Amino acid sequence: MSGAREKIFLSPPHMSGEEQKYIDSAFASNWIAPLGPNVEQFEQEIANYVGVRGALSLSSGTAAIHLALRLLNIKPGDLVLCSTFTFVASANPILYEGAQPVFIDSEPDTWNMSPIALKRAIVELSKKGKIPKALILVNLYGQNADMDPLLDICKFYNIPIIEDAAESLGATYKGKMSGTFGKYGIYSFNGNKIITTSGGGMLVSDDIEALERARFWATQSRDQARYYQHSQLGFNYRLSNVLAGIGIAQLKVLEDRICARRAVFKRYFEMLSQIDGVKFMPEADFSFSTRWLTALTIEPNSYRNPIKIIEYLEKKNIEARLVWKPLHLQPLFKGIQYYSHTEEESVSERLFNIGVCLPSGSNLTIEDQNYVINCLKECL
Ligand SMILES: *Cc1c(COP(=O)(O)O)cnc(C)c1O
Repeated sequence: MSGAREKIFLSPPHMSGEEQKYIDSAFASNWIAPLGPNVEQFEQEIANYVGVRGALSLSSGTAAIHLALRLLNIKPGDLVLCSTFTFVASANPILYEGAQPVFIDSEPDTWNMSPIALKRAIVELSKKGKIPKALILVNLYGQNADMDPLLDICKFYNIPIIEDAAESLGATYKGKMSGTFGKYGIYSFNGNKIITTSGGGMLVSDDIEALERARFWATQSRDQARYYQHSQLGFNYRLSNVLAGIGIAQLKVLEDRICARRAVFKRYFEMLSQIDGVKFMPEADFSFSTRWLTALTIEPNSYRNPIKIIEYLEKKNIEARLVWKPLHLQPLFKGIQYYSHTEEESVSERLFNIGVCLPSGSNLTIEDQNYVINCLKECL
C-alpha cells in the first residue's frame, strides 16, 4: 500500500538554498581550509544571536564539550555531574579526560535536570569530601532546563556549568537564550539538529580569554614560532570555512525553522492528545521550546508499547525513535553513580519505558505528517 512512499525521516537537514552562495564564495576565494572569512562571520553571528561576548566554531558539539572541560581544568579522577537523560555525546568527553561522571535524573515538568536530585547528589558527595568539579547540563529536545534553582545550587557550591544546548539553539528560558546560562555553552550543527553545517559545533562564553585558549588548543596548539613548535597538547577541532558558510545561511532561517517545528508539534498535539494514555512532553511556563523533536509518552498495554509502535511505523517507512536511553543504564557507564529525582522515583527511567519521538523535520509536509498521524492512530 505504502511501498512507493519515500521514507519520512525523524529530523532531516533542511537547506534554504542560500547555502550554495557561501560555499561558492569560499571556493572562489580558495578559502577551503579551516579558518577564513566565513568562520569569523559565523562565530560573530552566533554570538550576536544568543547574546554572548564570544563564540568559537568547532568540528562538532562533542569537541565543544571536550574543550569546555579542559578550560575548567578537569583532571583524571575528578567528578563531573551530567544529565542522565541525553545522548551519549554529552558525557563521552568526561571519559576522554579520565574524569568520572555522576549522572543526575530529570524532573517531570521539563524532562530536564531535577534540581532535587542535583542538590541531593552534591550534598552527599560533599559529605564524602568529593565536591564535583563541573556540571554538564543538557537541554532536551529543544527545551531549556529550569535554570533558576539549578543555578542557585551551583552558585552555592561553586560548581561551574557547561550548558549542552546542542538540541536547543533558539529556545529561551524566561526570555534568555538557551546555552547562555553557564560558564560555557555548546551548540551542535550535526545533520539532524535544527540547523546544520552537515557537521559542526560552537563553544560560546562571555570569557573571551578562555575562548582564545580553546581556539589555540583546537588548532593543534601551535606556538608562535618560525617552526612547528608545540608546548601543549592540541586537537584538530576547527570547523572548515566551507561548512561555516553553510552555517551562516542556515542561521538566517533559524527563526523559520523554529516556527515550522513548533507547528509540527502543534498538529501532532491537536490530532493525538485526546487518545487515551498519550501525553506530550510539557512546555513549562518559563520556557519557549523550539520543539526540535516532538516527544510523547504512550502508556503501554497488551497490544502497544513504544518498541512495537516504532517497528510498526518502520514498516510504513516512517522513522520514529525511542527517547534517549538514560546514560546510567548504558553498558558503557556500568557502575557509575546515579541520583534519581527522588529516592523512590527515577523519572528518566519511566520516560524511557514509555517515550517516543516522532518525525519532526521543519520540512515535513502536512500530507506526510497526516500519514504519520494516521499510521500512529492505527497502532494505538
Ligand atoms: C547532538 C548532540 C550532541 C553532540 O553534538 P555533535 O555535533 O554531534 O558532536 C551533544 N549533546 C546532545 C544533547 C546532542 O543532542
